[in-house]
Amino acid sequence: MYKEKRLSLILFDDEIYGYLDTVKEALTLFKLHLGKIKSLKILKEAYNPFRGQYRAEALLRSLKEERVDDYLLALTKDDIYVEGLNFVFGLALPYQKLCIVSLNRLFSEDERLYRERIYKEIVHEIGHLFRLEHCNDRRCIMYFANSILDVDYRVRGLCKKCLVKLELLTL
Ligand SMILES: [Zn+2]
Ligand SMILES: [Zn+2]
Repeated sequence: MYKEKRLSLILFDDEIYGYLDTVKEALTLFKLHLGKIKSLKILKEAYNPFRGQYRAEALLRSLKEERVDDYLLALTKDDIYVEGLNFVFGLALPYQKLCIVSLNRLFSEDERLYRERIYKEIVHEIGHLFRLEHCNDRRCIMYFANSILDVDYRVRGLCKKCLVKLELLTL
C-alpha cells in the first residue's frame, strides 16, 4: 500500500513561519506532506567568521537526528557556502535525505517574486533528494543557478525530461 511521504522542516529563523504556504506548495510537486516543524538556533560551529557565512554541509550534518520523517528541509536567512563556491542558494545530501535552502540572496521587495524564488529553490533541492541531477535546460528548475538572474530565468517547474525522470523515480 502507498504510504504517504513526509518531510521534517527546520526553521533557523522564526520569520520564515510566514512562508509555510510556499513550502507546502513546493512539496505538492513531489506528493510530499509536511511532517514535524521545528525552530532551531543555527549551529554556531558552522559559522566561518572569515567569510561571514555558514558552511552548508556542517549545518546539514548537524540535523541528522532531526529528520524524524522521510526527508528533511532546513531554511535559513543566513548566507551559506560550500568549499570552492562563493555562496550557494542551497545544498542537498541525497543519501542522508537532508537539504537546506538559504533565503539570504533571494530577497526582493516584491513579495510575489520573493516567494517565487523561495519556491524554486526548495523544489530544486528537494529534486536532488529525489535523485534528480542538474539539467542543461536553463529554463528548468533543476538547472544549476549561479546567480539570482539564473534563479529568475528558470520557470516555476521541471522540464519534460526531468518530469519524466521524477515520475519514474517516485513510482
Ligand atoms: Zn543543485
Ligand atoms: Zn530539466
